Amino acid sequence: MTGQLVALFVFLGANIADTVDAQRQQAWVVQASADLDPRAVAALQQVVGPDRRLLALRAYLRAGTSLSGRWTWSQQQLSAYASTAEGKAAAADLNAVIAAFASANPGFTLRVNRMPRSLAVQLARWNENRSVGVAATALATALDRQFGATVVPDAPALRHALMNWTPAVAAALAAPGLSAHGQARAFDFQVEHDGKVIAGIEAASARQQWDAAGWTRKLQAAIRASGNRFAGPLSTPYEPWHYAYVSQPAP
Ligand SMILES: [Zn+2]
Repeated sequence: MTGQLVALFVFLGANIADTVDAQRQQAWVVQASADLDPRAVAALQQVVGPDRRLLALRAYLRAGTSLSGRWTWSQQQLSAYASTAEGKAAAADLNAVIAAFASANPGFTLRVNRMPRSLAVQLARWNENRSVGVAATALATALDRQFGATVVPDAPALRHALMNWTPAVAAALAAPGLSAHGQARAFDFQVEHDGKVIAGIEAASARQQWDAAGWTRKLQAAIRASGNRFAGPLSTPYEPWHYAYVSQPAP
């Protein structure tokens, strides 16, 4: 056999192995998602790749009965939000933080994305995010090790394994549908100077652009000065720009 032919068979063999793995993982997705909220099942169908589906499914299973109350608003709810009492209160609370920040840091502007994050946006990010890909591969590998030799694993055992697996490094995104941004329960801030973002919402910027440059502390100070309507920042994964909206002043 020529070298080229050998290479071709190795390539085909690897592809067939990949397909078999993908089919087995997809069978686990179907098996373990049987009793889920239909909105979560529909979201899983829009996730690309069985390993990313397994990682999202893990989050849905862990959410348990809280999933329904946490699920991202419908398009109709998202569109109505700005004109609701809750939306108006959040806008006023955000304006207060921005004003406090501006008076303490002349020349610098605090920006915030006020729009709740739709399911479509959460899905698009989940499907392309690198940290999600890394965690998804690790989860699929762990499940393969545990169930790879079984034809059809026991559904409770599969769900148990999914729920109890922990990534070495947490993915930087909540599973699609479960982001606190989906119900305007969280907001991301960033700092601008001369129209340029100097502390943004990139995972790589947390230590240098935020902590080392002092913006982590200055954002916290602006939140305190404006009545403590936001709690944070998020610690896992560490996001100095991400705050939960608590709407009542913290005691
Ligand atoms: Zn956020």
